[in-house]
Amino acid sequence: MLKSLLARIGRFLSVTDENPELLKAQFEVFSSQVPLMYSIVLISAWALAFTFIASAPPLLSIYVPIFFTVVCCVRIIGWLRSRHVVPTAETARKALARTNLFALLIGVAITGWSLSLYPYGDPYMRGNIAFFMAITGVGVIICLLQLRSAAIMVAIIINIPFVLYFSFSGIPSFIGMAINTFLVAGALLMVVTVQFRHFAAAVDARTLLETVNEENFRLANLDSLTGLTNRRQFFTNLTETFCDAKTKGQRLAVGIIDLDGFKPVNDLYGHVVGDSLLVEVGQRLVTLADQNTHVSRLGGDEFALIFCDCGSDEELLAKGERICDALRTPFVLADATVQISGSIGLSTFPQLAENVHELYERADYALYHGKRTNRGHAFLFSIDHVVEIEQSTRLEQALRNADLQQELTVVFQPIVDIQTRRTMAFEALARWNNPALGNVPPALFIPVAERAGLVGGITRIILEKALATTSNWPENVGLSFNLSTQDICSPDGVVRIVGMILSSGIDPQRLDLEITETAMMYDFERAKTAIETLKALGCGIALDDFGTGYSSLSQLHALPLTKIKIDRTFVSNIDKNPASYKIVKSLLTLSRDMGLGCVVEGVETREEMDTLIKLGGQLAQGYFYSRAISESQINDFLPKTLEDQQVV
Ligand code: C2E
Ligand code: CA
Ligand code: CA
Repeated sequence: MLKSLLARIGRFLSVTDENPELLKAQFEVFSSQVPLMYSIVLISAWALAFTFIASAPPLLSIYVPIFFTVVCCVRIIGWLRSRHVVPTAETARKALARTNLFALLIGVAITGWSLSLYPYGDPYMRGNIAFFMAITGVGVIICLLQLRSAAIMVAIIINIPFVLYFSFSGIPSFIGMAINTFLVAGALLMVVTVQFRHFAAAVDARTLLETVNEENFRLANLDSLTGLTNRRQFFTNLTETFCDAKTKGQRLAVGIIDLDGFKPVNDLYGHVVGDSLLVEVGQRLVTLADQNTHVSRLGGDEFALIFCDCGSDEELLAKGERICDALRTPFVLADATVQISGSIGLSTFPQLAENVHELYERADYALYHGKRTNRGHAFLFSIDHVVEIEQSTRLEQALRNADLQQELTVVFQPIVDIQTRRTMAFEALARWNNPALGNVPPALFIPVAERAGLVGGITRIILEKALATTSNWPENVGLSFNLSTQDICSPDGVVRIVGMILSSGIDPQRLDLEITETAMMYDFERAKTAIETLKALGCGIALDDFGTGYSSLSQLHALPLTKIKIDRTFVSNIDKNPASYKIVKSLLTLSRDMGLGCVVEGVETREEMDTLIKLGGQLAQGYFYSRAISESQINDFLPKTLEDQQVV
């Protein structure tokens, strides 16, 4: 019982490490307050000592004050030095524990010294001693307000002997002073207790506020799903590293990653799987990153990398390829194992960008370009692209200002039955003749129109013209028409196309609508709904450029396709190249097994044609039969029985 009471008192009077933030705050306050306290003690002690120089022995009037001075100066210097130090909880605790000890020693020293001077003084001088003890005690307690243990110790050590000593002096004014000091000390201790509580509460509130601020900062700058820095922080980091690279004359690179095939995973397996895939992708990127590489998630399935001091173009591309390789490795998630790929667009400072904006924009352009030409790989922005960007900006301007109704025309390329050589349909292909730019090929202006959001208008004009031409053809000749991603991913676009087909009076069964895989990648669900609507109308749906993009058979199965069009890259030299031969053969088998029609595109030579006949190909299109021809040439073309000749 006594032991536990003593332990409690011991704890109360010592410095504990229960609240590290409180220790640091006490340290902070004390670094200016404690020197003040020692100064008060020192000046008051010397003031008292001088009055006793003549009457008291030198030990008490000179040597003890000198000893005080040395000790106090050492402590003052120690604390003044610590003013600019940011303490750890442990250093603060040690400093405060020392203060606690010195408070005890100072209390004992002041009391002992003052009372030992008492016998050498006259009544005035004794009054001075009482005043010194009372007022210095109050001063010290006030200076130690934020260290409750020290304040209480000083109050007890100075005041109890004081009160006892002067109460028994038999002098009424000293007895009155003792009672007065006792009351003031009691009140002061209450003030210390209350103030200390307020101080501790204020420190707690500050700590809480700091924690909340930190959390807010974290939320504002980190991506909540992957824990990576978010888009905002990416740009902050990029701006900082850019300035740094500029000052140090170092190379800096930005990489933007877009996942290929994320959308279908999300659509087929659900958002939970999609989310865990993104988390895994983030982790793989972090694992691959060295200390000079920052990884961020920009949003959706887009990630970004900052490569500080990035090395040569070759090294950068090699790093990019390593990342693409890692992303191709299947992801084993809780509910499914999925395989995707990722493309990276890269750009570098100072070679290919002058500012942060350009660095980012050019990496983004490289990504866009890479996705079109070599999906799933790293692509570095080059000086040639600057020319391309200028060209596409010019094209976009021209498209916006053009009289497209007038300038756009349609040409038609026959799609022929390989076995009977009958023309089954024509594919409508857009042509743009601009007074300033001349003939602009669709491979140039369609992508620009898609990026600028202008392709819907082009589709409308071309479809209108193509349908009008088709209405003049025999009933057994169909029309194949290219739709772009935006046409089928916007509900308005689909409604307009349906309206145009219905009002043309042409049997929708004569119509094949060609779509590319890019549309599927962009928004699988929307594209699927659009395709189902068009299919329900009676139109055929052909998957264009099959084999060039990211194709998954499960996706093909999920779509109501009626045809695939094998891209011409597989057909050229099919008679000489065994790899092409095998690919086309297996694609023909695949289409047959899935009950789909199959058009082989880009057949240019008799040898290629003969090989396709042998493989049992069904439909073909290409220069071997005919290039795209104008509306007026079609009537001449149709009645002809196609001989094995090239019509150019
Ligand atoms: P695509 O849909 O794959 O069209 C086939 C392209 O291959 C056409 O180029 C055609 O002229 C060309 N071609 C046909 N046979 C051969 C051949 O034997 N050898 C070679 N080397 N090429 C052949 P074109 O007309 O320049 O069109 C290029 C692309 O522009 C089209 O590729 C299509 O993606 C797009 N496009 C054309 N017209 C339209 C349109 O009205 N709307 C949309 N959205 N895209 C269009
Ligand atoms: Ca096509
Ligand atoms: Ca094609």
